[in-house]
Amino acid sequence: MAITHNLGFPRIGAKRELKFALESYWKSQSSLNELKAVGAQLRERHWRAQSALNWAPVGDFSFYDQVLDMSFTLGHLPSRVKHFQGDLLDNTFRVARGRSSLEAESHSGCCGGVAAGEMTKWFDTNYHYIVPEFSAATEFALDASRLLDQLHEAQRQGVSAKPVIIGPVTYLGIGKSKDASDRLALLPRLLPVYVQLLETLAAQGVEWVQIDEPLLVTELEPEWQAAFKTAYAQLSGVAVKLLLTTYFGELQENLVLVSELPVQGVHLDALSARREVEPLVSLLPQDRVLSLGIINGRNIWKTDLNALLEWLEPLHQRLGDRLWLAPSCSLLHVPVDLNSEQVLDAEVRDWLAFALQKLDELQCVATALNQGRSAVAEQLTANQASLTARRQSARVHNPVVQQAVREISPELGRRQSSYAVRAKKQASLLQLPAFPTTTIGSFPQTAAIRQTRKQYKAGEISEVKYTQIMRDEIAKCVAEQEGLQLDVLVHGEAERNDMVEYFGEQLEGYVFSQFGWVQSYGSRCVKPPILFGDISRPKSMTVNWTVYAQSLTDKPMKGMLTGPVTILNWSFVRDDQPRSVSCQQLALAIREEVLDLERAGVRVIQIDEAALREGLPLRRSKWAEYLNWAVEAFRITANGVADDTQIHTHMCYSEFNDIIASIADMDADVITIETSRSDMELLDAFDHFNYPNEIGPGVYDIHSPNIPSQAHMVELMRKAAERIPVERLWVNPDCGLKTRQWDEVLPALANMVEAARQLRAEY
Ligand code: GLN
Ligand code: ZN
Repeated sequence: MAITHNLGFPRIGAKRELKFALESYWKSQSSLNELKAVGAQLRERHWRAQSALNWAPVGDFSFYDQVLDMSFTLGHLPSRVKHFQGDLLDNTFRVARGRSSLEAESHSGCCGGVAAGEMTKWFDTNYHYIVPEFSAATEFALDASRLLDQLHEAQRQGVSAKPVIIGPVTYLGIGKSKDASDRLALLPRLLPVYVQLLETLAAQGVEWVQIDEPLLVTELEPEWQAAFKTAYAQLSGVAVKLLLTTYFGELQENLVLVSELPVQGVHLDALSARREVEPLVSLLPQDRVLSLGIINGRNIWKTDLNALLEWLEPLHQRLGDRLWLAPSCSLLHVPVDLNSEQVLDAEVRDWLAFALQKLDELQCVATALNQGRSAVAEQLTANQASLTARRQSARVHNPVVQQAVREISPELGRRQSSYAVRAKKQASLLQLPAFPTTTIGSFPQTAAIRQTRKQYKAGEISEVKYTQIMRDEIAKCVAEQEGLQLDVLVHGEAERNDMVEYFGEQLEGYVFSQFGWVQSYGSRCVKPPILFGDISRPKSMTVNWTVYAQSLTDKPMKGMLTGPVTILNWSFVRDDQPRSVSCQQLALAIREEVLDLERAGVRVIQIDEAALREGLPLRRSKWAEYLNWAVEAFRITANGVADDTQIHTHMCYSEFNDIIASIADMDADVITIETSRSDMELLDAFDHFNYPNEIGPGVYDIHSPNIPSQAHMVELMRKAAERIPVERLWVNPDCGLKTRQWDEVLPALANMVEAARQLRAEY
């Protein structure tokens, strides 16, 4: 009998119930008990949805973040919040957000007003967790209350409960040392708390515990590998079975280590580590469970069930009861229910599976293995039909696009001349002063702008009316920028809801869901567009708006586009071709837009690559390959223009050190980056590399409502000038201004323009 289980279920709710309950509580519009009740409802609903499984996850539900929950379980909180009294959940929010609710903001100094916890991406996903903070003095003390509450709740509901926890080595590995002390030195202090936790669970009748150690899919130093041996030797003393759970990649050099750890079972992500299944089967002792992640927990396509069964049937013959089946990773990373979708394109919809549908697939595979395929013949036939339709659809396969990709040559990504030659031509065309000023693209998205876009989408106002209102907004925005005497203007992006969605909606090969939300952090969700087919651009996407904006001013108007790598990294992408090919298709489409803008007289064009760094693979050994195709895609997009057309790119806050050579390779004439909070230290990477082109290091922190002073911005630029020759420096904010108010933006930009004047006089 193949056993089925799940590693985690999305907790946000099919209609984002948890998000709305959290935000209402934070605004003091509902009580803590009401919030807790929503949590309990969601857990009950989700366990019911998983009732066909042999084991359902418990403890995967979190009101904010599962890593932060683990910190609470281990009694490990930042010292700045240790003295807090009150409800555990309020304390969770204080650590995560710096305050428990709006109400607490007025109490800053007593219970609110602490620094919010630092967030970072959970491995290579778009989920952000609260980073555990360690120091040499860190102590741990068990608080199993949250986990036990959920366990008892599950047991009362008759759930076959398999508690889920983050393993000790991963927990240390994903945290940060605040005093440069060695995190591994804490392991001897940490392990007894884990032993206690496991003993507590065992005492509640728990048979299996899922212990997540995704750190095992990354490159590990020998001492970290050794830590796994130490840790699991100690944990194996407890009378509970451990399912050591890995996901998001191959184990590679950690494969033997994993097979030798004294646990009762191992979960392997058979989507990304399929070729390691055979070796692991031979290495694992005969009494171990092997759990295979066979349904993609990271993407939204139906699984090819027949092909999967072809592969699994012989394996099931050999392993029998030892074979467990699950999604590849927690379903946290996919939307909840395809059945919520009312308007999704019917053809594409038939190719998709969200979390609930993925559990059905899992059940179908298990039934086919346990009872024979005939027991699920109908489901298998329907699945086959969907897959065949997708494979043959003319909307997926566009021969013209495929031909264009085949014809890509290195010339396509090459500018006509080197930067030095281009810079001279651009200077004579654009006639900009030293320390030229510009912005990153968006201006405040006022309630009126959002309202207009909404009305237009809902068909409540005509296209003519919509265009007129948006043109008026553009005209206002241009007039303000002229008033401020900025040097390179933008149209302000009033017509864009989102920098990826705006382009996705106009490209062939994309669809959009209504409820395809995925948790990003806390109550925040993203709804990634679905890239399903070969990408083409039926008509220009930004030219009319930009040309209109240019007609209103004699200053250069900067055209504003999102780059192919960022569009790719923020979408659900195809699983039937490599990411690199989808990226090439996007590059060709955006390149056409670049050339259209240039033909229309737009001579400064910015191509945002905010998410370039986000796409880096987990293993460093794979970075070069990714960066190669990603940079090439940018170059194809950007580099078809004449020498005197100036290409800008923009990147948000990033650790630039690792990728500086690739950034230089992109060969944009100007890059603007987010630096103001780092006190220009992020520029060191550019300095040490002798970055050859122009840079606009952000001097205005747009995440804050504070208005930066002229003196502060001059000070930052002086620091920049210590690192970068002044003739290659621009003056601009950190990022787009869409989340700010006009009454913040105007004085801030006025100060910025004054700062640039002062710098021109100084240097
Ligand atoms: N051009 C975009 C804007 O200004 C860039 C946003 C971003 O980098 N995240 O809004
Ligand atoms: Zn940005």
